[in-house]
Amino acid sequence: MVNLPLNIDYKDKVVVITGAGGLICSAMAHAFAQSGAKVAALGRRLENVQALADEIKAEGFICEGYKANVLDPEELELARQAIHRDFGSVDILINGAGGNNPRATTDNEYQHEAKDGDKTFFDLDPSGVDMVFKLNFQGSLIPTQIFAKDMVEKKSGCILNISSMNAFTPLTKIPAYSGAKAAISNFTQWLATHFAGSGIRCNAIAPGFLVSAQNKSLLFNEDGTPTARSAKILNGTPTGRYVEAEELLGATLFLCDDRAASAVTGVVMPIDCGFSAYSGV
Ligand code: NAD
Repeated sequence: MVNLPLNIDYKDKVVVITGAGGLICSAMAHAFAQSGAKVAALGRRLENVQALADEIKAEGFICEGYKANVLDPEELELARQAIHRDFGSVDILINGAGGNNPRATTDNEYQHEAKDGDKTFFDLDPSGVDMVFKLNFQGSLIPTQIFAKDMVEKKSGCILNISSMNAFTPLTKIPAYSGAKAAISNFTQWLATHFAGSGIRCNAIAPGFLVSAQNKSLLFNEDGTPTARSAKILNGTPTGRYVEAEELLGATLFLCDDRAASAVTGVVMPIDCGFSAYSGV
């Protein structure tokens, strides 16, 4: 269960969430299900999303897990057919799958600080860069091709993408992930325009910094004190703290609601404890 920040009725809405086994999207799956939606949790590994669905069902809400790699149109189409059988046609798509890859990350923030043996900008692996662009950009475009067809048919629907702070201003070390998320913000505006006459809205949230299992060791030393990068992040955040996954749910539920957000399309909403507003001075 999550703490629902808004009381919006999603009864009978079919919500597809990609990358649903992850930190942010599993919280979204709980929130939509607790708001009455029929949630289709899509993931690369069926056992992960089935476990999430079992947890949500045990709480008395509606959710099923489906195996779907966001880069595999055939798997996504099979998932769509299964969702049609289980729940009906799709109303809301959350493009949640995404992430970075170490092969597209430099060891240093600045070239002039690089020492012998460090992975510099010149060592970045083009296949790693390609993978990050594919996962984040095509990984939102392809599911939208599959699931927005339902929305075009019924002339209503909503798409929510997940951008990032690095889309506004790139973060050091991660040029590909920053570029790919900038592309997601741009694509959000493109989709909002393209589907405006089809009754479909498209928005994005841009989460600030969250602590997750994957980045915990990069952000905190073993004694719990912040690492140098973590101190930089917190110094650059006026509220001086990290964002919690549950703090993304209010914006998510608001942006996907056709009544509350009926005129909201093409926006990229930062949820960042002020990080993107602060110049550092
Ligand atoms: P996460 O790693 O917990 O979740 C990402 C999920 O995507 C995982 O379940 C993973 O298995 C899945 N995934 C990866 N490749 C996939 C593929 N090819 N097909 C299907 N699923 C795939 O990360 P998260 O922090 O919950 O991130 C969710 C989204 O939020 C991502 O788009 C991420 O870029 C974005 N984001 C995260 C943060 C943060 O601080 N955590 C900040 C800004 C944006």
